[in-house]
Formats: sequence, C-alpha cells, structure tokens
Amino acid sequence: MQPSMFNVRAPIDGSADVFLMNTFTDAQIIVSRDVVDLLDRIEDDLAPRTTEERAALELLTEHGFLVDSRHTERQALEQFFREVRDGADTLKVTVLTTLQCNFACGYCIQGDHGDYNKHAARMSPEMAERLAEWTEARIDALKPSKFVLTFFGGEPLLNLPVMYLLAERLHASCAARGVTMAISIITNGLLLTREVVERLNPHGLTGIKITLDGDRDTHNRMRPLRGGQGTFDKIIANVRQVAHLTKIAIGGNFDADSVDSYPALLDFLSEQDFADKLSRVTFKPVIRETQISGKGIIPLAVVGSDSKPLNGACMTSAGMGVSAACDSCNVVDEQMAFLREETKKHGFRTVDGVHMGPCEIHRSHAHTVGPDGSLYACPGFAGESRQAVGHIDGREDALRTQALRNFERLSAWKACQDCAFIPVCAGGCTVAAHNELGDMHAPNCHKTSFEAGVQALARDAAREYAAMA
Ligand code: SF4
Ligand code: SF4
Repeated sequence: MQPSMFNVRAPIDGSADVFLMNTFTDAQIIVSRDVVDLLDRIEDDLAPRTTEERAALELLTEHGFLVDSRHTERQALEQFFREVRDGADTLKVTVLTTLQCNFACGYCIQGDHGDYNKHAARMSPEMAERLAEWTEARIDALKPSKFVLTFFGGEPLLNLPVMYLLAERLHASCAARGVTMAISIITNGLLLTREVVERLNPHGLTGIKITLDGDRDTHNRMRPLRGGQGTFDKIIANVRQVAHLTKIAIGGNFDADSVDSYPALLDFLSEQDFADKLSRVTFKPVIRETQISGKGIIPLAVVGSDSKPLNGACMTSAGMGVSAACDSCNVVDEQMAFLREETKKHGFRTVDGVHMGPCEIHRSHAHTVGPDGSLYACPGFAGESRQAVGHIDGREDALRTQALRNFERLSAWKACQDCAFIPVCAGGCTVAAHNELGDMHAPNCHKTSFEAGVQALARDAAREYAAMA
C-alpha cells in the first residue's frame, strides 16, 4: 500500500486537525494529525497495527487515500481520461450565432469599432438548418441522455432568428428521441429581454451568463457603446426583468486595473432585489498577449495572435481562452482566491477553485460551431479559422485534418508528472497554453490557485464540522 499521488491536504486553522482531499476520488475528510502521520509513514512502517490504526487505514483505503501501487493508479488515471474523452451521456454543442458585437470595448478590436460589424461573420438561417440536421445526426449516432446547446458569440442575441430556429427545432428533435435538452446563453446582457427568456424557456433554457467587468464606473469604462455610453445600468435593468424567469449567472473579467473594483460590484449585487436569484458569480482574469505583472500581482497571458482576442469569439464573454462557455480557467491564483472568498462572503455561489476540469476540450462529444459551420475543439479556439478541426458539411482539407490530429493528441497533463491536481486540472487551459506559451501541448500551470482552493475547502469543511459538533 502507498499514499495516493492525488492526496492533497491543508491545515485547519486553530486546530491540530488536517483537511485531506483526494482529487481523483473527490473524498474530503478532516482527520487528526496521527492519521496524517500514519499515512506518511505507511510505506516504511511494518510495525503491527493497533485497532485504531487498522480502522484508520481501512477508512483511508476506502476513500482512495491509500492505493495498491503508483502503477495501478496511473492506469486508473489513463482510464479516467479515456472515459472523459468518450463519455456519451451528454452531447454539447456551442454555437457562435455571430461574431458581431454591439459593444465597443476598448481592449477588443472586434465589436462596434470602425466597420468590423459590417464584415463580421453571422450565421444564416440556412446554415442554422444544416447545423440542426448535423446535430440530429450526432444525437442519433451517440444516443446521449442529454443535449446541451449553448449560444455564444460575438453577441449571440444579435442573431435571434438563428437562436430561435435552433432552439425550437432541436427541442422538438430531442423530445421525439427522449433526450433532455438544456439551453444556455452567454451574453453581454444589453439585448436581454423578458421576451427572449419566455420564448426560450419552453425549449429548455436553463440559464444565462452575463458579463459585468467590475463596478458601475469600471464596467462602463471597460464595456461602453460606440458613442462611449455606459452599459451597466441597462444590463442591470434587464437582469431585474428576467431574474425570476431563469437562472442568471454573473461573470466578470478582471485585470490589474479593474480587480479592486470587484468588491464594490459584489456590494452592489448583494443589495439588489434579485440577489437571491443569481445562480453563480465568478470572476476570472483578462488574458493578454504579453505577460505583464500589473501591480506585481496578476500574470496576464495572451488572448490571441495579432492582438486579436480569440480572433472573433468575444474575449470578455468567452473569457479569453478562459471561456465562460467553460468555467475551467479561473486561474490567476491570489486574486482569484481573494475574489472567490469575497464572493462567498457576499452570499453568492461561486466555483471552489479545485473542481475545475477536465474541461470540454478533452471531450470528444463537445463541439463548438462557428457562424460558417466550421467546427472547433473548444469555444476558446472558435473563430481562429486555422484551428478549425472540421466543418458540419463534412468537408475535408489539409489544414482542418492537421488541426484535428493536433487536437486529438492533446494530453498536456502527461507532462505534469506526479502533480496531485491532474484529475481536476488536466494540464490547464489549452487555449492559454497556445497563446501564452506558443504550445498548446504544454501544461499551463496555475497550481497555486488549486492550492488556494484546497485551503478554502478546508476552511469550509472546518466550519461545517464545527456547526455539526
Ligand atoms: S481549453 Fe478548456 S479551459 Fe481553455 S478555453 Fe478551451 S474549454 Fe475552456
Ligand atoms: S498544469 Fe500544473 S496544476 Fe495542472 S496538472 Fe499540471 S502541474 Fe498540476
């Protein structure tokens, strides 16, 4: 027997007890220092066991803290990633209805600048019909129990006809096949209306994610309209209109200049009459092209080539390879940990900083579809045409085939050796590695963020334990 390589631990403040977690089995327990010592010496200590020690070892084995060998554990890890890749229970399709955007964010060269919107791609109703056919064929082939459709952009609400067409047709297709359908939308919130929600609710709308980039002043500075008008008040008014009709999640993207405004945003949100309706509040870093360390604290990473954030997919909604379509990349360590704790203190649910992956790029049955029908491995690569891995019409060309092969061999975690966070990190965000390191096959490591997450879980567990005692 030996300790699992996926054991992590954190001290419990004001106590000799220790929080133990296994990231592979997800077991979480609070144990005495004796048990931790026993775990640490298990490999060498052949002394006869007391009854208490035997009971402790049984418990540790049962929850995966003790394993037969490193070899069998590695085999189990390989099997886990195969199951993640092939998992057929859920088919997920993220659709970029358009790359157009009605915002003119200063840090984004897309959106309502110059004549960008005139030329930005937009899905046609014909393409949406073909996408619906393609999706139905995927459902028939895979036979999932659940189909998740996410609308994304650009600003997806700028192409409502395509959203309605896909939602209505695919909901009927799923109903006919006994498949549960869930719809989510990632939007800047400016065009969100009660009508949109009421129209989509019968087709399985499960939630809407809206981006607020800081408190009112900061958001208005970061995310204005072309004429410079702020958008914060209108978005909040829209949220108020629909918060009782669907789940609203708030996302925010911070950088060195805006991070300090987030506590004020949390104060504001917690005072709103819809505060208890917010399903989740999560903040993540803006990723830029060159690593800088604003105020010495935030490592900012690349967004996309040629300063083109995601080359079309909305950098703030998508989250810069830190996709809000995925929520896996909340990884800028100290600031993330600080904002997570602040968010919890304000009474909002948020991510725990540990259960972050493996993200959808590791799943064969999660697809992102651009406005022209191109297929991408994840929302973070959408719009970067040379990263397209296929097309819904099945066309093949050398570039797409090469990109597909490149994505199929993704396994950055294999370079992570014995890291205890592999099951929940999988080597980090591939988009960030691609942009920041110039190598999508390299790990993009934010281990300290995971460690901070474990400490937060320890504090929460200790609080719960104390409340029960
Ligand atoms: S690689 Fe994963 S975490 Fe990064 S943007 Fe894509 S889906 Fe999200
Ligand atoms: S990227 Fe870092 S935290 Fe993630 S599995 Fe690899 S070494 Fe661990």
